[in-house]
Amino acid sequence: MQLSPVKKLVIAGGGTAGWMAAAAISRKFGELLDITLIESDDIGTVGVGEATIPPIRVFHKLLGIDEQEFMRATLATFKVGISFENWGQQGDRYIHSFGKTGKETWLGDFHHFWLRSRELGMDFEFGDFCLEVQASLTNKFYTGPNADINYAYHLDATRYAKFLRELYEKNGGKRVEGKIVEVKQDHDTGFITGLTLASGETIDGDFFIDCSGFRGLLIEQTLRTGYEDWTHWLPCDSALAVQTESVRPAVPYTRSVAHHAGWRWQIPLQHRVGNGLVYCNGFMNDDEARTTLLQSVEGNTVTEPRPIKFRAGRRHKSWNKNCVALGLASGFIEPLESTSIHLFIMAITRLMRLFPFRGVEPALVNEYNRETHAEIEPIRDFVILHYKATERDDSAFWRYCKNMEVPETLAHRIELFKKTGHAYQAPGELFRIDSWTQVMLGQRIMPEQYHHIAHLMSENELRQFFTKMKTVIRSEAEKLPLHDDFVQQYCKASV
Ligand SMILES: Cc1cc2nc3c(=O)[nH]c(=O)nc-3n(C[C@H](O)[C@H](O)[C@H](O)COP(=O)(O)OP(=O)(O)OC[C@H]3O[C@@H](n4cnc5c(N)ncnc54)[C@H](O)[C@@H]3O)c2cc1C
Repeated sequence: MQLSPVKKLVIAGGGTAGWMAAAAISRKFGELLDITLIESDDIGTVGVGEATIPPIRVFHKLLGIDEQEFMRATLATFKVGISFENWGQQGDRYIHSFGKTGKETWLGDFHHFWLRSRELGMDFEFGDFCLEVQASLTNKFYTGPNADINYAYHLDATRYAKFLRELYEKNGGKRVEGKIVEVKQDHDTGFITGLTLASGETIDGDFFIDCSGFRGLLIEQTLRTGYEDWTHWLPCDSALAVQTESVRPAVPYTRSVAHHAGWRWQIPLQHRVGNGLVYCNGFMNDDEARTTLLQSVEGNTVTEPRPIKFRAGRRHKSWNKNCVALGLASGFIEPLESTSIHLFIMAITRLMRLFPFRGVEPALVNEYNRETHAEIEPIRDFVILHYKATERDDSAFWRYCKNMEVPETLAHRIELFKKTGHAYQAPGELFRIDSWTQVMLGQRIMPEQYHHIAHLMSENELRQFFTKMKTVIRSEAEKLPLHDDFVQQYCKASV
């Protein structure tokens, strides 16, 4: 097939995914492509997605974004991890932080030494050796020269989309408001040729990015790409989101509190708190979800609870013909570990690296889809781990999760850790060993063994080493300012 060069790029959808793609591509390829983004005010956006993970800072650097300006514009706060409550058992709490725990040696990761300390009867907590955990527990935060805290942000999704839109428009990108009512295709190839709006206008293009949300207007409704369903592993299929007034200073972490048929989030921003209940409709009906959410929030509500239905899974192909699906149009893993925006970023940078300027070469398409699949599976496994590794049996939902079959890749990881204490981060995988160990230990998977490298320290040496490290980390955390005070002086927004 003759390749046709790509000069006109059309982005369908102006949610977080659409504006992130538009801002990044216009910044780097603005001189190479004619870019148009179409969004519909009538349809609107999902309007959630407010917790992020640290790689977003790299994306912002790529876009030349000034951190303080961005934080003021999106009323953002800092996030150093997630507080998981009631997951392993009711009453449990652990922090999955973005930090490093202890110091690893070449042969054995730090947790092996900690496991030995437990065996010897020492009572150090795993989180005693992580600055981000200690910062969370004391609500402290600092960033600046010589700061050593790994962090991300909590942000207002609607304001973030607006902020990115301004960047895009500064880069000369075009925006068209209107509802897409028809997707035109070439009769022979099936390639998309243009999008017709309700006004009758058609926006032609050589290449299309589908950011139309769950509906997948181009990738699914037009190209019938197909969806791989993961609901047997990730059974939650519903969410209710509501915003409330702040009643206390913002903490530097997201809260994820398990309930009898899922969990709820609490995301503190400068001006309000984002709350939501994630649940499985088979185990909790919508009325009960509404009552549960409204009973659990702390401040007065400032919005009506907003229902969102979803299905965990991914498109069989994220790139099909001359269309790449981004954001919710490409699939969804529930927001437990705040991974969606990160996956958008990875997809955008991957597309830019493989961009088909000279035409849609099948080898490029295959490579894009291969990398996309390889990236998402360990993230999916990591999220499933939270449900599978539980001792809760107080509800039918948790009994289902505890007993469900999990992907072989995850079953292997759990078995390996349980039997030997070995944890790993495969090449290219997002979550580091620190994340796997914090969550596995936090969810009560206690290994039966540890690496004998830990025997090379005597009991006394181990105790002294741990005592010193714990004291140093505690005192570093103590020296930090309170998170809320730091936000006020660093990036306070005028609401
Ligand atoms: C409950 C929930 C919580 C989440 N929490 C997090 C989180 O904490 N962290 C995180 O990283 N991610 C989170 N996400 C995921 C993600 O950040 C958001 O869902 C995301 O911001 C929205 O993605 P989107 O841009 O793909 O879709 P949408 O916001 O749905 O945007 C779709 C766009 O397409 C346009 N459109 C659709 N059809 C048409 C049409 N016919 N014509 C013209 N325009 C059209 C709409 O107008 C809109 O502009 C969460 C998701 C859910 C569901």
